[in-house]
Parts: sequence; structure tokens; C-alpha cells
Amino acid sequence: MLTSLVSGLEAKGLAVAVYSEAAGNPLISHVEQGVRAYKAHDADAVLSIGGGCALDVGKAIALMSHHPGNILDYEDDKPNGLPVRADLLPLTISIPTTAGTGSEVGGSSVVSRDDNHQKIIVWGAALIPRHVIADPDLTLSLPPHLTAATGMDALTHNVEAYLAKNFHPICEGIALEGLRYVNRYLVRAFENPSDREARGGMLMAAMMGAIAFQKGLGVTHSCAHALSTCYDLHHGLANAMMIVPSMRFNYEQQAEKFTTMGEVVGIQGSASEKGQGFIRWLGELCRTLKIPNSLSELNVKLTPRLLDVATQDTCHLNNTRACTRADFEKLFQEGGAHV
Ligand SMILES: [Zn+2]
Repeated sequence: MLTSLVSGLEAKGLAVAVYSEAAGNPLISHVEQGVRAYKAHDADAVLSIGGGCALDVGKAIALMSHHPGNILDYEDDKPNGLPVRADLLPLTISIPTTAGTGSEVGGSSVVSRDDNHQKIIVWGAALIPRHVIADPDLTLSLPPHLTAATGMDALTHNVEAYLAKNFHPICEGIALEGLRYVNRYLVRAFENPSDREARGGMLMAAMMGAIAFQKGLGVTHSCAHALSTCYDLHHGLANAMMIVPSMRFNYEQQAEKFTTMGEVVGIQGSASEKGQGFIRWLGELCRTLKIPNSLSELNVKLTPRLLDVATQDTCHLNNTRACTRADFEKLFQEGGAHV
């Protein structure tokens, strides 16, 4: 993928340098290395190819190559933080090779501190990549376990954005269509990796999820962020482990919305049958995608730090039902219980 991209650009007379050290959950040191590579090459554009890590690090490299200060100065909502300036950014192009984060259409970059793995969210409308190439062929070689994990991230974005308490009917419409796409294509892409139509459908579902979650996310993501911070769990897998308990937690207060989501994924019956059926559908999807069914299988222990990080995470502030530390404890105990 990379060699054909580089040779294609060079054939057009462009000088290309490759930075490929970022992997797993992205760190600030990955951004710093990338900025050094950018400056050493005297570059004027950042083309990011890869999963959420590569795309997020690419945005942060584009930011820090021309802006003053330290990346922590650009943290979202930081008092006296520095602004992201469109006129200082180089040309950015994103090419996703997974269908999950939707980072290619988002203005945020999530990177972690190297010392304690605490996540930093940098945001600026100007960080939305100028161009996106969403080519299903580039996702055909994604192995089934990553198709499942990244696809569950896209699903969680759509579901949590739809339920988030901020007012944004436009994002809710996009979220429901994203959910429809996940229902139509995720299992197909998992079971038949070379299904081009399903791969393309999941790329669209991922983008819809990322556009929709401008409205906000919820408790599933707060749990997932804590699991990644404390146990370096893959973000999509962490969401997959937590979505069923989180939705059971949310059901009572938003029964009508669960009915609508049940309708979108084709569940028949009364309003409550559709709503409860939606949670069952989520659990069956997790089993089909072979998501592990307990957090202890992933060596996760319910520690005070895990609860601290989840409680301090800001995503759940947009959850319609308020979530206390005791609620998080219960959610983690149920993590991976897909029924
Ligand atoms: Zn996510």
C-alpha cells in the first residue's frame, strides 16, 4: 500500500519522506518524532495513511510543525490555551485503512502522554483534513479481529451520538443512517474480508459516526478511554466490551430512542420489544464478531485508577443518564457480558 503510494507520488515529481513509527495508542512522543521528520524533510504537506492512530498523529504533526508552543497548549477547552490557526496549517490529506474512528472527517486528534498514558484531546475545525481518499480496496487486507474492533467503534459512535443529550437533530439523523450501514455491512465485512461493497459501506458508517459525534458521546466511551489508558486496550475492542452494559444502563431513560434504533436494525414487535430487541441485537453482534465475554479474559482488574479515569473522562457528561463512580464500578463488572 505504502510503496505504491510513494512510487506514485514520486512518479509525479514529488519528494516523499516516510515517518512510520507511530503504532498502537498514539503518544505525544510519536507526534514529536513526526514533527522532527517533517522539518528534516522541509515538508509542505502531511499525507496520513493508516488507522485512527496514523490519522490522529498526522493531524497533530501538521499542527505542531508550524504552531508555537507545546501540544498540551492546544488541548480542547484548556483555559488560556492557544488557538489552532487555519493559516498556519500545511496541506493535509487522510487515507483511512480501517473503518472505525472516522478521524479522516474529524477536527480532533487524541494522543496520550507518554508518562501516564492520560489522553489529550486537541481540537480545531481547521484540523479536519483538507482531502480524504476513502478507498474500500485499502481496507480489504484488514484482518477480521480488527474489522470487528474498528467496526464496533464506528457503531458506538453512531449509537452514543444519537443518545447524547446535546441538542442536534441533524447529527441524530446521520447517526441513525450510520447505524443502518453498520447493520447492513459489518458482519459481511467480518465474514468475507474481500467484500468490496461491505468494506465501502463500513467506511461510510465510520465517517457518519465521526460526523454525528460532534453532538457528543456517552458512558461507553468513558469506560473505553479508561480501559485504554490503564490497560492499553484497543479503543474499538474496549467499546465493544462495554456497549451492552452501557446501553442497559441507558435504556430506561431513553426507551423511545431505543425503539427507533430497534426499527433501524429491523426488529419487529411492540415499542418495548423493538427497544429491548436492540440491546439483544448488540449482544448477538458482539458474539458473532467473537468479542471476548469478560474483561478478566483481557487481564483487566477493577482498580481505583480505572474508576478514577472513567469518572474524570468528559464523554459521559453528555450521557443523558448521569453516571456516578458507583455506576462505573457496576458497568465494569458487567463488561463483556453480551446478554
Ligand atoms: Zn471511539
